[in-house]
Amino acid sequence: MDKKLFKIIASAVCLVLCFMGVACGETEAPQGGEEPQKPQLSTVASEYLYQGGISEYSILIRDDANYYESFAATELAENLCKATGNSIPVVTESALADKTRVISLGHTDLWDEKVGKTLLETDIVDSGYYIQTVEKSVYISCPDSTSSSGVLYGVYDFLSDAIDYEFYAADEIYCKQTKEIPLYNYTGYAVNPTFEMRMLPKADLRDDRLTTMRYRMISPSASFGLITWGHGQVSQYIVPDAKCKCGLEGCEGKTYYQHHPDWFYGYGTKEMQLCWTAGEELERVVANRFIEFFQQYPDAEYFMFGQEDNLSNCNCDDCTAMMAQYAKNPAGLQIMFMNKVIALTNGWLAENEPGRSVKYIIYAYYGTEAAPIKTTPDGKVVPFSDYVDPVDDLYIFYTPIGANFAYQINSDKNADVYKNLKEWSAIADGQLIMYLYDINFRNYLINFNNFGTVKGMYETCRELGVACMTSQAADSYTTCFQEMRSYVESNLMWDLSQSYDDLVLEFMSAYYKDAAQYLYGYYEIMRDRYAYYQNIVSPESGGIYGDINTNVLWTQPVVEKMDELFDKALASIAKYETSSPDLYLSLKNRIMKERLSVIYMKIRILPSYYSENEIAQMRADFKYYVNFFKLSELKEGSDFGDLLD
Ligand SMILES: [Zn+2]
Ligand SMILES: [Zn+2]
Repeated sequence: MDKKLFKIIASAVCLVLCFMGVACGETEAPQGGEEPQKPQLSTVASEYLYQGGISEYSILIRDDANYYESFAATELAENLCKATGNSIPVVTESALADKTRVISLGHTDLWDEKVGKTLLETDIVDSGYYIQTVEKSVYISCPDSTSSSGVLYGVYDFLSDAIDYEFYAADEIYCKQTKEIPLYNYTGYAVNPTFEMRMLPKADLRDDRLTTMRYRMISPSASFGLITWGHGQVSQYIVPDAKCKCGLEGCEGKTYYQHHPDWFYGYGTKEMQLCWTAGEELERVVANRFIEFFQQYPDAEYFMFGQEDNLSNCNCDDCTAMMAQYAKNPAGLQIMFMNKVIALTNGWLAENEPGRSVKYIIYAYYGTEAAPIKTTPDGKVVPFSDYVDPVDDLYIFYTPIGANFAYQINSDKNADVYKNLKEWSAIADGQLIMYLYDINFRNYLINFNNFGTVKGMYETCRELGVACMTSQAADSYTTCFQEMRSYVESNLMWDLSQSYDDLVLEFMSAYYKDAAQYLYGYYEIMRDRYAYYQNIVSPESGGIYGDINTNVLWTQPVVEKMDELFDKALASIAKYETSSPDLYLSLKNRIMKERLSVIYMKIRILPSYYSENEIAQMRADFKYYVNFFKLSELKEGSDFGDLLD
């Protein structure tokens, strides 16, 4: 169990979410326990937020409201205006004249006066929130020590109650049109997400902060308080060729490597890593670098200390001896090192920035995937020694790069991943961040088949105490249902009691409208085809480098069947071409974005089935839409080459 997540104890019945449609024979029993459950909502008799399209309410924020609180207020005002035709004002506390009817966002003075509750991070995790109606006002807030993102997410839930607000994609946001919104009687409860921090590193979210926030995600970037993302130990923390700042005798005119060659394993090669047993001087220098980052980014919360991106670890005598005695393996060495660094940095924080808590992140990745554990005679999995028990603020970013995403984590195809995850869970419960993948890195234009496993993988992770969830896709724009994947996955990371396929159906109905059934048909054929291929022909193809670019998987009859569905999809929206040209174009583009994948299969995998003229026409369409959607890579690190000739 996650140490921090807690269940809302409410006498009311849980809110049962009803979705349209039934999916693919996938039955999902309701999960008890950790998803953000909410008591059933009632209204305050004879009180209205809007009546006859008019409101007497104000949105209240603190005079020094932070970024999330201000944005939450704007989102609330704009969406209520979209739904009713009339806005309500956003007012800061010193400008508030009438306190009787407000929606108060964040820890306002009025909150202290009317709700009078101190919110603690032990009850409400970062990005969770508390909501209560008192008299004629609604209050939404979160613990002072958190980022305040919870206030924004509370506003989205509030909008969902009030006007059926739903964010599908940047260009598809739903609000019910209404003139009347009741005042809901929130009885005073906390809502915590399934995973306290959620990330989908991918190009379109990297470049669109608003959309990222509306999906309730953060981006791995300074603007979301996640610093030094990625592989940075020897590129962002201790750069071997930078001027040595150890401060010891002999520094004069030397680089780190010149003064301390033993700190760097594989210096000057692609195999470079830090030596985690190099000792107190290195620990102190790394700690000082952290402290520089603390000062440079005063609002940041997560500081990553990522090992370099290679398969090597230091094998010096000290590392070898330390592993045998205390650390067991390289992951153990890394934790020992970081535990000591954190003792220094947290000491500095306590003295210089009391009240600030930061989270440190290290990878469990190539060479460090296995947890440093031992099994006691009575079968209990415990840290190999006291030294490798990660301190509370140290998060382990478990990155099973070799996992098979066509199968669940707890299937025998992922036996190593499952074992590692369970063992990490035993020593880092509640301090685990999972790093999953959402794409085949050798085939950006063919859908990655994790449709049937996303939810189950998340469930296994949650059961094993994973606190934060990440799923990485392409770092350049691409096709393959990116908008749908972002919608479905961000929703599941927030509330895992939902069904993957119901979310798919919900998204498709909203996003493809009249064409939804044909896009869903395409999605089903694809999944059926993968079920055959990955169960019978090539079980290994579910990895992120798996071979899915083949006419064994995408036979001509299968691809033709998929293509027919795209013809039908386009026919179903043809009626808008004259009646609603903007809608027509928008739907056509959304459909063609997915059809690109089928065109690609025809011209790259099955060219011999088509005439020269047909190929020429398809290549012209392909080129047009590749440029239109700003796609730049066929696979990781490769452009489209002759496909765009
Ligand atoms: Zn030095
Ligand atoms: Zn070493």
